[in-house]
Amino acid sequence: MSKVIIFTGAGISAQSGISTFRDSGGLWEQYRIEDICTAGCLETNRQETIEFYDKRREDIKDKKPNYAHKQIKLLQDKYPNSIKLITQNVDDMFEKAGCVDVLHLHGFLKNVVCPKCGYKHNIGYSSLKSFQENCPRCNCLLRPDIVFFGESAPKYIELYRYLESCELLVIIGTSGYVIDVNHLSSYATKTILNNLEPSDAIDEKKISKVIYKKATDAIDEIVCDIDNFLKGNLETLV
Ligand SMILES: [Zn+2]
Repeated sequence: MSKVIIFTGAGISAQSGISTFRDSGGLWEQYRIEDICTAGCLETNRQETIEFYDKRREDIKDKKPNYAHKQIKLLQDKYPNSIKLITQNVDDMFEKAGCVDVLHLHGFLKNVVCPKCGYKHNIGYSSLKSFQENCPRCNCLLRPDIVFFGESAPKYIELYRYLESCELLVIIGTSGYVIDVNHLSSYATKTILNNLEPSDAIDEKKISKVIYKKATDAIDEIVCDIDNFLKGNLETLV
């Protein structure tokens, strides 16, 4: 199992121009969260929900991974067995940067899935309708492979399995409101946190090192710390 987990949230994709429901402007302003990404909205508001994710898929088509994604890819190449990438993001910026085996906790925008039989298919950046709306195996209606608010997130089981063997946890770009960063950090020997600014949801006393900068400005320092950690040199984190 990997000694180092790099756990990322929206902050790392923000500089690739990908907005979330917490930002103002863009795609999200035309919709209400409760209508398009809350448990049950596929039953009550299927067309609009499908259309929203079709637009988000289209939106990431031309977006490019930024310097932080690219440096993480180089680090993964250097230490393929020691680093696990886990993200709350549903975009494909890590994949576009060339990263492999990324655990997407909240799903992956390019996948559609059958809620009945588990059939899953990567439709790229196209609309669900242009693929097909019904499962080719069981004919049930397909849905975006996205965990909505109020739904269970099965990948969290894997997250906690990886945390069991984690020695260094590196958290980049997450405010701690969706997932409890304080709790995550309790699993690791050392934790590095990089956010743009402090968050009320995060207790800095539980973190070995905090870096308040844009992810692209912080990544060189983070890569250096991980490199030192994996070489057995811990003093930068004490
Ligand atoms: Zn099916």
